Amino acid sequence: MWNKPLILVSLILLFQNRCASTKKPAFIIGGIFHINQDELEAAFKSTIDIINSKNHRLPFTIKDAAIRHDGRNGLQLSHKTCNLLARGVHTIIGPDSYTMSRHVGVICSGKDVPQISTRSYSSNEDYNHFTINLHPHPPKLETLFVELLNYLEWTKFMIIYQNNDDLIKMNQLLSYKSNTHDIKLSQLILDDRMSYRLMLNAIKKSGECHFVVVCDLLTLKRFLQQAQQVGLLTENHHYVVYNFDMSNIDVEPYQYGGCEIISVNVEPYQYGGCEIISVRFFDPSSIEIEDAFNAVDEEMYINYGIETESHTLNLETALVMDAVKLIHTILKERMLPIENQPLYCNDSEAWWHGPSFRNYINVANVKGYTGWIKFDPTGYRTDFEADIIELKSEGLVKIGTWNSSNGLIIERPKKEDPLPEDDSDVKGRKFNVVSVMTRPYGLMKQSATSLYGNERYEGFGIDLIHELSKELGFEYNITSQDDGANGSRDNKTGRWDGMIGKVMYKEADLAIGDLTITSEREQVVDFTLPFMTLGITILYKKAKPVPPSLFMFTSPFSPQVWLLLVVAWIFVSLSLFVMGRLSPSEWQNPYPCIEEPEYLVNQFTFKNSFWFTVGSLMQQGTELAPIGISTRMLAGVWWFFTLIMVSSYTANLAAFLTVTTLNTPFSSIDELAKQEEIKYGAKANGATAFFFKESEKPIYQQVWKYMTNNPDLMVKDNMIGVDRVLNENYAFLMESTSIEYATEKYCTLAKIGDLLDEKGYGIAMRKGSPYRQRFNTALLKLQETGMLTTLRMRWWKEKLIRAPCEEQAPAAAATALDLQNVGGVFLVLGLGTFCGMLMAFLELSMDILRYIKPQNAKYKQQMREEMKFFLEFKKNVKPTRKAGQENQDGGEFPFNINYMENYINENNQNE
Ligand code: GLU
Repeated sequence: MWNKPLILVSLILLFQNRCASTKKPAFIIGGIFHINQDELEAAFKSTIDIINSKNHRLPFTIKDAAIRHDGRNGLQLSHKTCNLLARGVHTIIGPDSYTMSRHVGVICSGKDVPQISTRSYSSNEDYNHFTINLHPHPPKLETLFVELLNYLEWTKFMIIYQNNDDLIKMNQLLSYKSNTHDIKLSQLILDDRMSYRLMLNAIKKSGECHFVVVCDLLTLKRFLQQAQQVGLLTENHHYVVYNFDMSNIDVEPYQYGGCEIISVNVEPYQYGGCEIISVRFFDPSSIEIEDAFNAVDEEMYINYGIETESHTLNLETALVMDAVKLIHTILKERMLPIENQPLYCNDSEAWWHGPSFRNYINVANVKGYTGWIKFDPTGYRTDFEADIIELKSEGLVKIGTWNSSNGLIIERPKKEDPLPEDDSDVKGRKFNVVSVMTRPYGLMKQSATSLYGNERYEGFGIDLIHELSKELGFEYNITSQDDGANGSRDNKTGRWDGMIGKVMYKEADLAIGDLTITSEREQVVDFTLPFMTLGITILYKKAKPVPPSLFMFTSPFSPQVWLLLVVAWIFVSLSLFVMGRLSPSEWQNPYPCIEEPEYLVNQFTFKNSFWFTVGSLMQQGTELAPIGISTRMLAGVWWFFTLIMVSSYTANLAAFLTVTTLNTPFSSIDELAKQEEIKYGAKANGATAFFFKESEKPIYQQVWKYMTNNPDLMVKDNMIGVDRVLNENYAFLMESTSIEYATEKYCTLAKIGDLLDEKGYGIAMRKGSPYRQRFNTALLKLQETGMLTTLRMRWWKEKLIRAPCEEQAPAAAATALDLQNVGGVFLVLGLGTFCGMLMAFLELSMDILRYIKPQNAKYKQQMREEMKFFLEFKKNVKPTRKAGQENQDGGEFPFNINYMENYINENNQNE
């Protein structure tokens, strides 16, 4: 790089300068550098050499006197500084550490010697009149960054800093934004392998996408390299870098369409498109700066044997060069007398021209490498200009400026949404899709080999996005919502978290999963048409069998039926007794050998009537056989009734004996809310919890109160809720589609009760997104072609890994027969009895008519007598009409009847 003639010319020039310097008065500038700052010291000396070589016609020359410090021993540095002053040094540049600088500053102010500091300082450092800070005023730089973030409209970001001093630089930003903005902090900490990958991976998992990075150049280089390796430099990531030497980094690997790095244990990512914005005070690639620095660079190499690493100017060196330039310009312009006045720390004499020199600095207006050097009345460099630069496909490009009078002016159009809102065509676009890892909507794929990109995920939602992408022709990149949050609004800050927050704050374009469409969410994002409909219901353990009871034989009939059965038996028995007495056929000759009997007897006494009905009810005989049409009619209907009742009883008893009755502790939300034994909850901050929160129904309000009083019963995601149902006495309020999945997976779980509401899952996209219509049409198409059903079957049945099922609870339970089941038989019985009764009267009337015709008797009178006898229920022996007639004529009838009655009664008792 260095050719021999050039070295020769330089040596001649240096010789000339040194010779000239012997004749002319020399102004000695002291430089204090850290022991590691060889390069900086060489740059300081080289700048002076070059100035001397260029200005050999001036009546003075500049000399350098440099010393080193170790950053710790302030006393030693004070001693060395005193030695410098004793050598006639009248201005000191440096040092770079706050404590060391204070030691030097105290000595300098005592001797009226200006100290020019180039380090970045904090605004609360002590003010020293003779210490001039050439570094742009840090509070102004903070203002610059606040304006920049305001312009970028970041509301949520993370500050990644190297050490505490870096954090102090962000003071204004932190205090200004912390109330309204969500700011996280993360310190760059090296892991065991001396890399930042561990912490960068953690940052990646946090889902953060906007970062302000504050660190030194070396750390920044490593940070970018490793951020790229862990996948933090994709087009979803946005950086503002608080380091003014960003231009000195080779940014080619991070440019759009840059290289793809594949290395062991690191996933390959297609890099590019990542937004990186930074600030600089000069463009090291500009001809002016390049020429100036090349000269210094050459000088450093030739005279001091120092070869700079990047051969580009950095801010630290530029400020030292500017300090020298400033001193030289003032000396040149103000024609300050240059005298050799050694200064001693142990006397009170100060530099005669010190105060004037200090004042000249204050009013200086010098064009330096870092822009115009100007100071405000207090000596701070508040009036400066900076370039705003951004990483583009062609490298770092200036996109705007900042200065204290005009503030921030950005010339490039605002980095728009990756989705141009005026165009609804999604073909060829790339969407960032966030999906919650809730089974079966999204899950991490199990694989023996490493998977990358979208391959890592599977599930109903993932397949659905895939089908939509085939339909609409877009590309997508899936990221997971690891915290399982679908999205809820923080009531205090008003900020949204979860997938809804990601879409809203432009960290994702689409969100998919078990994302319920709610009115509150609809206000901040747009939803597609629902691709699945569902409602809230309860997940609980399947009902347990009840142990059989002693009186289980009564179970086949409901108590009502049993009661009616008894009533029917009494009613029919009484009817039989009545019909028996009315029907003439039932009065039989007790002695068939007597042709014309005087007395007739009836088999259907009160007791016999009841016995006959019991006998047939119990499927037994009684040797009593009805003779009259009416009694036979009644007996027939009663037998039919008993046939049906007994068959029904037998059939239902068999069901009760074979099917176990199940014990369901509750069957609806009302019952669940009213009991205390079984605990219940829902997914915290989910749509289910929100439903109860918003509902005005008293029972739902009671549920919400219970939920707020028992936050430990609310779970982070559905799987935890299902686990609790399996292992505790806990009921989980859940959405029906997810319940179906859980009950398919675990045979011991069941859905209890009806749906409490009706709603749907949709795909969320940014508010006002032009793509909604396209997605809706594609979803309808998938529905019409049956694809949605196929996907549902795939994830709810085919791909489901069922948990081992120990005992299968019986599916159905037997129920007691009630009136609704057997009411008809009772009706038939009632009708039959009624008909029988009519028939009994008919029989009686016929018999009377048959009798009165030859006797010429009166029907009415005969009927009256029959009725009279009928009502004498105790009499079971009836005189024949002829005998009755004789009796009326003065015969022995009453005596004989009594005898007969006694005889029959005795016989009945003996039976
Ligand atoms: N789908 C619900 C949501 O979008 C989560 C599950 C639930 O709340 O039951 O918030």
